[in-house]
Amino acid sequence: MKNISVIGAGTMGNGIAHVMAQKGFKVNLIDAQSAAIDKALVTIAKNLDRQIAKGIITEVEKISTLQNIQCFTEIELGVKEADLVIEAATENSAIKKLIFSAADQNAPAACILASNTSSISIAALASATQRPSKVIGMHFMNPVPVMKLVEIINGAATDPEVTETIVALTKVLDKIPCVVKDFPGFIANRILMPMINEAIHALSEGVSDATTIDQIMKLGMAHPMGPLQLADYIGLDVCKNILSIMQEGFKDTKYAPCPLLVQMVDKGKLGVKTGEGFYKY
Ligand code: NAD
Repeated sequence: MKNISVIGAGTMGNGIAHVMAQKGFKVNLIDAQSAAIDKALVTIAKNLDRQIAKGIITEVEKISTLQNIQCFTEIELGVKEADLVIEAATENSAIKKLIFSAADQNAPAACILASNTSSISIAALASATQRPSKVIGMHFMNPVPVMKLVEIINGAATDPEVTETIVALTKVLDKIPCVVKDFPGFIANRILMPMINEAIHALSEGVSDATTIDQIMKLGMAHPMGPLQLADYIGLDVCKNILSIMQEGFKDTKYAPCPLLVQMVDKGKLGVKTGEGFYKY
């Protein structure tokens, strides 16, 4: 595997491009918005500088990493020679299906199509392609250059050889693969999101303030970050979307986003990316 196309250059896409390029893969980074690509390149350079400061990489490695990344605004051009496409676009089923269809029509026949989705059915994304056996979930954690876990999701039709290839690639990236089945929220978000939602319910009922709720979970459960602060980092819109997808997928109101979460998203308080969520940034 040599050529990797990453579709979506936001929070996750720039991190995935960073780790792939650093390991010597030729990366085509694709986003519909050229401003998102510009921002991603600045972020990648800044994060590489941080790795230099920590003694993890050299200046020469920074230069070769950046040289491994080419940018595109059109999927048709960006996936032409791809061995693997990793989709990391907005968490919206309709958008992702259009992307999968375009990638399927333009990538080589042997190319594997992976999604970084947090909660959308891999089988549903596979149904937008003519190659469902080559579609798989490759769910990186944020921030990608730092976090070790990659949750790998087998769709109903995923070929076991494709899973083996993606497991092996994950190890090449110095990350740890955990393989799961295609259920709403998979494992990571099925367990994380109800906890975040419950913390928001406790806050809205006035049981305690945000700082105290987070401190209880940090000190009492040895979590590195409290659930409300973590929600701010993930993005409150992303949390709301994942909960709604799980509510719909399981047909169970226990996953319904807390009304306070919905209100905050409606007001544009999305967390770190907008400067305000449960905390100010
Ligand atoms: P983001 O909003 O930061 O970035 C999404 C990017 O996709 C944007 O730059 C947007 O311009 C681009 N995009 C949208 N439609 C497109 C199209 N048709 N063609 C090309 N580019 C398009 O989102 P994010 O937080 O990076 O999330 C991306 C994916 O990763 C989502 O599926 C999300 O659920 C998942 N994820 C997010 C996190 C997190 O902590 N944010 C963690 C794990 C997984």
